[in-house]
Amino acid sequence: MTNLVLNRRSLVLGGLATFAVPARAAGDGPFTQGVASGDPSRQGFVLWTRLAPDPLAADGLGGMPAPATVTWTVYDDEALEKPVATGQVTTHPDSAHTVHAEVMGLKPDRFYWYRFEALGAQSRPGRARTLPLPGARPSQLRLCFASCSNYEQGYFSAYRHIADEAPDFVMFLGDYIYEGSNKDPKKATVRRHDRVADVRDLPAYRNRYALYHTDPDLQRLRAAATALITWDDHEVQNDYGAYLSQYMRDDVNMPALRQAAYQAFYEAMPLGRRALPHGPHMKLYTGYRFGSLAAIDMLDGRQYRSAAACPNGDARKGHVVTDACTDRVDPHRSMLGFEQEKWLCDRFAKSDATWNLMGQDLLVAAFVQKGKDRDKNPIIGHYTDGWDGYPATRERLLWAMQASRLRNPVMLGGDIHSFWATELRPSPDAPVVATEFVGTSVTSDNPSHQDFADMLPENPHVKYFNARSHGYVSVTVRPDHLETRFQAISDRADPNATVSTEKRFVVENGRPGVVEG
Ligand code: FE
Ligand code: CA
Repeated sequence: MTNLVLNRRSLVLGGLATFAVPARAAGDGPFTQGVASGDPSRQGFVLWTRLAPDPLAADGLGGMPAPATVTWTVYDDEALEKPVATGQVTTHPDSAHTVHAEVMGLKPDRFYWYRFEALGAQSRPGRARTLPLPGARPSQLRLCFASCSNYEQGYFSAYRHIADEAPDFVMFLGDYIYEGSNKDPKKATVRRHDRVADVRDLPAYRNRYALYHTDPDLQRLRAAATALITWDDHEVQNDYGAYLSQYMRDDVNMPALRQAAYQAFYEAMPLGRRALPHGPHMKLYTGYRFGSLAAIDMLDGRQYRSAAACPNGDARKGHVVTDACTDRVDPHRSMLGFEQEKWLCDRFAKSDATWNLMGQDLLVAAFVQKGKDRDKNPIIGHYTDGWDGYPATRERLLWAMQASRLRNPVMLGGDIHSFWATELRPSPDAPVVATEFVGTSVTSDNPSHQDFADMLPENPHVKYFNARSHGYVSVTVRPDHLETRFQAISDRADPNATVSTEKRFVVENGRPGVVEG
């Protein structure tokens, strides 16, 4: 593969014996935001960094006075002695001096190492991974998934412990940043967001990501593992859906807010040109394939959803409605949008992978809610902001899984700041067709454990629930079974928090459902 031209600015160096690494500059210099990799393919991945000598500069441009040239180099070895590909990118203020280098021409199914150089400085090194060939039969896939990392509500020890697991991939399942800040003095605040309390424009979104990316644990994780990414609501606004604010009357121009938020998200993430936003649109959902072992689909649960069912007075934000809200079950409404639903059902029909994993933002399982005093107050309720607000989409997908005999579907989710293991059926009397694991928050406040625990008798398909911890989920996929570990950190207020396994589950090949491991 020598001399294979990768794109206009890069070429593969395979076979070149000598490669001079410039002397290392002191300090981070412009590389205050760390490095990242994502969007893996069989022959490469996207490498990310940002030049930001003053990462929180008020204009959102990181203190960069002018465009600069960044050189990226991919190495065969962890010692960074054997370069195999290099290229140059010129940063631009229009993309906040971020770099998204699409590396191609590498070998499938292996780790590489990489580093950036610019303005006389070197970045920290990172590690990235390519996907196996479609016909390959990998014996194992290790991934971790995390969601809901509120900077103000704790330290990102969960991210540090994921990095220490050195998984093949890390999934970010949404609420990667929080656009709002704590204004309630009674609520715990471990550390504060920057000077903009509530983010509403492009410089402020950029600086919210910039603040999060100064966090050493998040930097460590992004350097350690290639990312598979989706978003939830807080990357834009709490409980927004499509072009609708959580407020019925809002001074926010939602298309403009979404455009700013999506642009800042793209800039901040190791995503390829395939996800480049166009105005207020960004095609984030996509599918990956890990040989014969696994298909991994990353879904977008926010951008295309139908308007929230039965708004509550002056708010569309999530709330519990009774069966009197018939709009909720209207089959003409969709959680994912009909185009994404069709794409996913087509993936089901074509997939011959042993395991079919879906990373998405929310709890998929139905969760029937009742009044506090259940015997006297049997009112059944459903939460409008999650999949319970769009049950027709859930049923269509679960029936499609069954109809296409999709092998071993496993949904992975977040948002609800608690650990869940559930079994999914297309209708109450149908067999279980899919298994679900939901990870708790990295730091964000837990909901009331007792309130949910009191409702578990009405929800026997929920096999595990705990809202008293923070952490992440570790998944090991093998041909004969999939194992998940619910990993809890000791204390979100402790920057050196330890980690322990709270619960372990197994799903056996050919047997959807949860087995305690
Ligand atoms: Fe959250
Ligand atoms: Ca959320």
